[in-house]
Order: sequence, then C-alpha cells, then structure tokens
Amino acid sequence: MSEYWNAELETMAWSGVERWQAGRLAETLPALWQRSRFYARLHGDRVGQVSMRSLSDLAELPFTLKDDLRAAQQAASADAPFGENQAAPLADIVQAISSSGTTGPPLYYALTARDVDVFSDAIANVWFTAGIRRDDVVAHLVGLPMVAGGLPYADGFRRIGATLCWLGGFPTERIVRDMRRLRVTALLATTSFAQYLAERWDDVGRETGIESALAKVLGGGEPGLAQPDIRARIQAGLALTHLRETMGLGDVLPSMWGECEAQDGMHFNAQRSVAVELVDPANGQQLPWTDGATGELVYTTFARDATPVVRYRSRDHALVVGTRCACGRTSPRIRCIGRTDDMLIFKGMNVFPSAIRDLVVARFATRVEPVLRIVKEHTDQVRFDDAIPLEVEAARGLAASPPEALAREIEAEVRNQLQVRVVVTVLPPDTLPRGTYKNALVVVRDVGAKGSP
Ligand SMILES: [Zn+2]
Repeated sequence: MSEYWNAELETMAWSGVERWQAGRLAETLPALWQRSRFYARLHGDRVGQVSMRSLSDLAELPFTLKDDLRAAQQAASADAPFGENQAAPLADIVQAISSSGTTGPPLYYALTARDVDVFSDAIANVWFTAGIRRDDVVAHLVGLPMVAGGLPYADGFRRIGATLCWLGGFPTERIVRDMRRLRVTALLATTSFAQYLAERWDDVGRETGIESALAKVLGGGEPGLAQPDIRARIQAGLALTHLRETMGLGDVLPSMWGECEAQDGMHFNAQRSVAVELVDPANGQQLPWTDGATGELVYTTFARDATPVVRYRSRDHALVVGTRCACGRTSPRIRCIGRTDDMLIFKGMNVFPSAIRDLVVARFATRVEPVLRIVKEHTDQVRFDDAIPLEVEAARGLAASPPEALAREIEAEVRNQLQVRVVVTVLPPDTLPRGTYKNALVVVRDVGAKGSP
C-alpha cells in the first residue's frame, strides 16, 4: 500500500486534476493581469478574453521565454527590484532566490510568505514520493542558500519533519566524514556526486569506523540517473534501498517531479500549484500525455504571488515513460531527455549529447566507463558538419583490449541508432576528469571542462 503526501490530488484521475487546475486558473488569471505589468503587456489583447474551461484553453495565450523574464527584470526599480513581473508589494516579499546563471546573467525570483509555504509543500511532496520520511537524517549538499536548490529544498525536508543536516558548503572530505558521524540515512546529490561518493564511500567508512546508515539517494540536477548502468553502480557502491530521480526548475518551482518506488520515471508532484503542458518544441502545439510521447515541458503557476509564470518554456525535453503506475499515482511519469540549450545539430538534425551518452553507456556497459564527453571546437559551436568528436574511457580491467576496434564499434552503433556520425577516441580508464558537482558532457577543445562550478 503506497503512502501519499497529498492523497486526493495524487490519486485523482489526471483529467480531473487538469479540470481542477483550469478552474484555479480561471480564478487567478484576472488578478494576475492586475498585479503583473509584465503579463498585462505580454498577453496584450488576450487580457480578459480567455475563458479557462480546460487546460487546452491555455493555448490561447503566448509562451513566456526566459528572455522575456530577463527583459522584465531589466525594468527593476527601488520599489520593484524584481522588475515588471514583480506581482506583489515589496512589503509582502520575504525571500529572493536566484537562478544558477550558468547560461547568462542570473535571474532573481521573489517569494511571499504564502509562496514559501506553497514551495515547501510541493517540494515536500516530491521528497515524500521519492521515499523521504520523518525519521530520515538528510544530508543537504547544495552550498548556496540563495539558489533554487538551497533554502527551498531545505524547507521541503523540514516540512516532512526529516532531520536536515545542511552540509553543503563544507569541503568534500568533511561532508563525506560528517555523513557517517551524523548517521545520515538519505541525501540529495547530482548524479556526478553520487557516482563520486559510490567510489569513495567504503574508504571513508574504514577511516571513521562508523557503519554506513545511508540507504536513500535522491538524484537530480543533471540527466544520467535514467541509465541502468549508472544506477547499478551507485546503488551497489552505496548499498542503497532507494535511488530516485527528481527534477524541477528554479524559474517555476525548484522541485516538481520525483520517482516513486517503481523507480521508473518521475511523477509530477506540484499539482496543487503548477499546471504542466507537453508541447511540440518545433511548432508549440500542445501534445497529449500518452506513453512514449516526447515534447518540451511548459509550466504555469496558479498559486504564486510574487513572480508568477504563465506558459513558461522550460527548454527541458521529456519522454513520457508511462501514464499509469502501480503506486496509484495518476500523474504522468517522465524522464528528461535533454535541454534545448544542450542540443547539437549534425547535418541539420537535432541530437542531444545525453542521447549519445545514454546509448554508448547502455550498449557498451561492460567495455566503457560511464564517463564520456563530446569535444567542441569553440564555446558557441552547435553545428557539426563532420563527425562529432567523442572521447570515451575503456572500462577498468579492459585496458588491454584493442581500443581501435572498440572505437569503430561505437561509431557504427551511434550511426545506426541515432543517424549521427561520431569519431571516437578510446582513452585509458580514469583519464577524464570527474567532478563532485556535475561532469561536463560537452567540452571545448584545449580549453578544458565547461559548465563545472
Ligand atoms: Zn508511481
């Protein structure tokens, strides 16, 4: 028997959830047009003209792009430091959060006390679905309180009633030792850090002389956890009972998707405050949530006071893994297959670096390490007219097998499966850098790793 954080919304037929959300939007949109100069302007002649009977009526409104939010923020002033989309008076705002700023100048979002409550509840819902309970001792490893994964994630753990151990910010060595000393049972980490930990956990254990209590790892922040081989290594290295993927977006709500005990794709857990659409990234048309569908996730908040978003293009591309689940939750289950920002173009065809990584790691699991990278000539390169350079590592213990033969096999497999040509260099094991935060999947030649903190 599954347990739920919000049994009513989590088990209601998905069409019923969408109808309820459309009702909430019908109520909140008119007020939004009053409160947000940005949305009054962006929605222009649609203001007051949209009757929200179902979520398909959202299609009458234009999308909001990250650049739109950037421009709105440029209009900041002393009484509206968050710009044109500050939809609550400064006196009611209790917190600012910042986007990571990895793809441009950071954006700031504001929260009222009610927003903090809405965030905490939704994030707690994700952590609960992912298996966190009151008696867990949770290591929180994000170092910066102001980012979406900082204070909001911590609030989510406390909302459940788990013991929050905010270790992020300490040196890695200390974090790893303190997790033993504090008998940490659960932690939230990037896939890269979980991999790093899986390789070192036993050595540290021997030094501290304290048995590992760690049983649950929540992964997120980068793709990779969908890979059976990466999962198996982390699960075995840390002797876990739970390994669950989670995902959210700072611009909307920092954690909205989480895996249940089926560990087969992430459920949507922000039903109470966010509506989600699946759209065709090429033409912007809404797509139905059907098994096997792929599309871009688009979010609309209907319970956010200070910096709301309507039809926000996340640039996250998802695969719908399933629309029914043994756990009884009715929300679709998805995997993130890549971000628009990461997309490369090979001879006019779109390809995600993560698709190449996933294919190679899955098909050559016993012969390569699950760390590889694509090499660009310069930072802005998106187009490849020649084969895409790909560096892989031979599996440990297999260094003696002929690398040339393996390289040609990988090239053939990628060409057959993805219709993309790569030119593979097989390196000895442990050559590629492994970070404790995120391993860069795409690097620029001779400049070194990009995208690490
Ligand atoms: Zn489920």
